[in-house]
Amino acid sequence: MFNKIAVIGAGTMGHGIAEVAALSGYYVLLNDISDEILWEAVKKIEWSLRKMVEKGKLDEAGLALALSRVKTTTSLEEAVNGSRLIIEAVPENLELKKEIFSKVDKIAHPDAVLGTNTSSLPISEIAAATYRPDKVVGIHFFNPPVIMPLVEVVLGDRTSRQTVELVLEFVKTLGKQAIVCRKDVPGFVVNRILEALIQEAAWTVHRGEASVLEIDSAVKYKARLPMGLFELSDYVGIDVLYSAGKAIQDRDGGVIVSPLFEEHYKNGWYGRKSGRGFYTYAGDFWERPKIPPELADKVRLEEIFAPAVNAAAWLLRNGVVDREELDKAVTLGLNFPEGILRMADKWGIDVIVQILRIKQSRYGEYYAPDPILEEMVASNRLGVKTGRGFYEYAHDCKDSGEVKIVREPPIAWIILNRPEKMNALSLKMLDEISRVLKGLLTDKEVKVVLIKGSPDGRSFSTGFDVSAFANLKPLDALLISKRLQEVVNELEMFPKPVVAVIDGYALGGGLELALGCDFRIASTRAELGLPEINLGLMPGGGGTQRLPRIVGEAKAKELIMLGERLKGEDALRIGLVNYVVQPEKLDEEARKLAQKLAEAPPIAIMTVKNVIRLTRHGILEEGLAFEASSFATLFTTKDAAEGVSAFLNKRRPHFTGE
Ligand code: NAD
Repeated sequence: MFNKIAVIGAGTMGHGIAEVAALSGYYVLLNDISDEILWEAVKKIEWSLRKMVEKGKLDEAGLALALSRVKTTTSLEEAVNGSRLIIEAVPENLELKKEIFSKVDKIAHPDAVLGTNTSSLPISEIAAATYRPDKVVGIHFFNPPVIMPLVEVVLGDRTSRQTVELVLEFVKTLGKQAIVCRKDVPGFVVNRILEALIQEAAWTVHRGEASVLEIDSAVKYKARLPMGLFELSDYVGIDVLYSAGKAIQDRDGGVIVSPLFEEHYKNGWYGRKSGRGFYTYAGDFWERPKIPPELADKVRLEEIFAPAVNAAAWLLRNGVVDREELDKAVTLGLNFPEGILRMADKWGIDVIVQILRIKQSRYGEYYAPDPILEEMVASNRLGVKTGRGFYEYAHDCKDSGEVKIVREPPIAWIILNRPEKMNALSLKMLDEISRVLKGLLTDKEVKVVLIKGSPDGRSFSTGFDVSAFANLKPLDALLISKRLQEVVNELEMFPKPVVAVIDGYALGGGLELALGCDFRIASTRAELGLPEINLGLMPGGGGTQRLPRIVGEAKAKELIMLGERLKGEDALRIGLVNYVVQPEKLDEEARKLAQKLAEAPPIAIMTVKNVIRLTRHGILEEGLAFEASSFATLFTTKDAAEGVSAFLNKRRPHFTGE
């Protein structure tokens, strides 16, 4: 690799790119049109490095070293001389960029790669201004480059494989993640999807179908994006998004800018920077708009996201990007909690297509569903509900249908599947649960496991079939008890979070299974109990041990000795379940909980489970000592470094479990 780069243009992006490169050990020649601008840029770099020192992410020596690696010059010749990679970040003006590329082409080393940070201009046209179009490539950083982890590497018509490889290697050395945008399409990947999404939100308001606050509330609290879409527009700048949207619209009609954006743009209501956008901003400090969570249910997310899913399908169909990279682009570039294709799979591809068709009939061809989506519907690839969508989900147990797994990475459902028997436990079912857990243990994509009963909602599980108890010998009963205890232990010791999702009956061994889970979420119609006493028996799957620890001895005795059943709300009151929701919301709320857990750092989660489990019966001092050593151990993980760094930089952390 090389150790020197040039950055042309030292504005918002240029100075940030120079800083990131210098921090990663590159010597950077930063070029702009005046010494004053360059001086300002260096001041900004120093300010940003100083912030890192204050946050403990860099020491004084590191600051000095990074700064010493940045040299400035107003001479393009001097900047480019000896650099094997030159990144241009001048204003978004095609003529200007072409002029610079043409000049740089003449003076740069013949092997040098020329990158442009353009957000919306055609790479191929910029490349056509040079005699080395094979060495011209888009290197699209996000703002601010120091914080945003994604770089889109964009190919022009003639960009060579070697050029792309060199840039991918460079991005890696910066500690960033790259996605390759294989075709020079307007908006590339991230902005094309973002514009489709934001403009649809604005069209929806323009058509009077929802308000700004309602959409932002749904997007923030239901879709769990870090900001509402209008809040984000104000933050990024309505002028910036308007121009990027227009550029896509003019080039290939991949989005249609809404009259609402047009109006804001023409009136200079740019958002945060002008004091007024979709919200108003007073004072010197940016205060986030107040978005009431209670409005979230007023908007169906699918209605707002459908055109963005359509844009994603278009990108796939045109071979611009592959499925995984597309989802990586929206999670890293837009801070989505999960990929848009995974979201679409959960909503249902048929639902998306239906929404698009309705919009198409009302508002025109822009909404015509992409052929990929149509094809998916025709072949029943509707997403999670049919086991196949953009991704694969269902994996039924091969030898028996007593347990079914549905994978929806990052979560997996274990479904107790004996609906005709109210999901009564059997040794076979226990064996299957055990085997399925072993599989999920090493399944890297699955971070959280949910257990639920069959979808008819009648029963989570009613425990062992009582008819089988009629002729049971004590020794057989002992073996059954032991086997159930073992499986509940496996659940409790499982290193990933496990959530019991309880609808209908959770009785006897069924409730005991749920007691081994980390969380219990129940519907209002759930009925929970350990009624074995009514048969002249007692719980045998850990109920006498776990229930008192969860709800206290007195309540546990009440439940066990009186054989009483509790409805969801009552179970919540005594702490037997963590949440109670309406039956129709149960899966959705369970998914939300699981999604949150899935975003948590896996090693810390596993450690917490261990520490709580292993110390809860012991001596306080021993427990505290174990806690302290576990706490210290977590400091060796990459996740801890990532968590602290994300917190300090006010961004969403991406934990990898390392
Ligand atoms: P900016 O206006 O902040 O900075 C551009 C800099 O280029 C200025 O300092 C200007 O003086 C300098 N410049 C102008 N003509 C020059 C020349 N002939 N030679 C050398 N320097 C010259 O712009 P920006 O926001 O940093 O955007 C730069 C590029 O990055 C654009 O293509 C933009 O689309 C893209 N981009 C911007 C963002 C963002 O959020 N700002 C994000 C991603 C990509």
